[in-house]
Amino acid sequence: MSRRIIPVADVSAVPDVAGPVRTPRGELADTLSRPLRDLRISVTDRCNFRCVYCMPRAVFDKDYSFLPHSALLTFEEIERIATIFVAHGVEKIRLTGGEPLLRKNLEFLIERLARMTTAAGKPLDLTLTTNGSLLARKARSLKDAGLSRVTVSLDALDDALFRRMNDADFAVRDVLDGIEVAQSVGLAPLKVNMVVKRGTNDSEIVPMAQHFRGSGAVLRFIEYMDVGTSNGWNMTEVLPSADVVARISEHFPLLPLEAHSAAETAQRWGYADGGGEIGVISSVTRAFCGDCTRARLSTEGKVYLCLFASSGHDLRALVRNGTSDEGIATAIANIWHARGDRYSQLRGSANAASTTTREERRVEMSYIGG
Ligand code: SAM
Ligand code: SF4
Ligand code: SF4
Repeated sequence: MSRRIIPVADVSAVPDVAGPVRTPRGELADTLSRPLRDLRISVTDRCNFRCVYCMPRAVFDKDYSFLPHSALLTFEEIERIATIFVAHGVEKIRLTGGEPLLRKNLEFLIERLARMTTAAGKPLDLTLTTNGSLLARKARSLKDAGLSRVTVSLDALDDALFRRMNDADFAVRDVLDGIEVAQSVGLAPLKVNMVVKRGTNDSEIVPMAQHFRGSGAVLRFIEYMDVGTSNGWNMTEVLPSADVVARISEHFPLLPLEAHSAAETAQRWGYADGGGEIGVISSVTRAFCGDCTRARLSTEGKVYLCLFASSGHDLRALVRNGTSDEGIATAIANIWHARGDRYSQLRGSANAASTTTREERRVEMSYIGG
């Protein structure tokens, strides 16, 4: 029997294009005075991995209904929406998914996005997050299309453990090759993301640190998050970033580094001996909602204002019903002005429950993009 985890059309409102017409240009601030700076665009809800913390096979099985092709935003539609977001202050675009490298001819989209400049006239910071399995094959064409850099997810160096975590029998070697090729073609600085699940892969923290020290790649440790409703998240499986830093420091002393910017999600630590740096993303133990300037555009054109949202705002409906650029710009402005999301800050409190509850079927990470 076919089933769907994310109720799509039923929970998402068509945004309000009424109100004073705003020009497609103009900086925005939400109810907590946060500007709009980053846009994450999910280009597919499909993936060739079944990471246990993201797309558990028991849920994302052969009966799972992924989006039909007609539901996906076309590259032209993505470009149009992205242009309006950029005019509203977005400086950084990250392509994600699902696995973005599964989207056919992704290079065509990258070429279009790479031509854009920010409202201040600077080149857009255009990046992509991938599981790395197809990266060795694609790194050169991605770079040639205009991609600036990549982030590669890798949860273990131990091959057997990695295969268990991706639950699709992909070898570590494929991902490591992808990282090497990406670095060699200049997709740099390259970041490597490791989601740490206590009791599953925390034994890999020090080997991963050792492997990437001095490699030019910045390894970042992400606390396992309660995204979506299908991964069976439990706080006991979260290893606080402070413990990650302590464990690495026992082998390779670390010193805190200044943040590059207030909106940076990772706290930076440098190896005392000059062997490069690591980052820790403490999404659970040290919420950074106060500086969250990110909007997410789903594969089918819905805007989500928080990773933990349960509903989005349907921009595809506007794009496909003939709404003008000014109308879409006004809708985006209205959406952002009303934003008050800060789930991680409220996690565990009564207020969090009133924002989104697990019963509301929060949107899945593979659908909204990480
Ligand atoms: N498939 C690509 C990949 O894995 O890099 C891009 C999409 S994936 C959803 C984006 C990021 O989200 C990955 O780095 C992944 O490890 C992270 N992620 C997924 N589920 C997570 C969870 N429950 N907690 C923390 N990070 C998670
Ligand atoms: Fe796929 Fe990325 Fe989710 Fe893993 S984390 S299942 S690679 S979308
Ligand atoms: Fe941003 Fe929501 Fe994450 Fe807070 S919980 S940092 S508002 S995405």
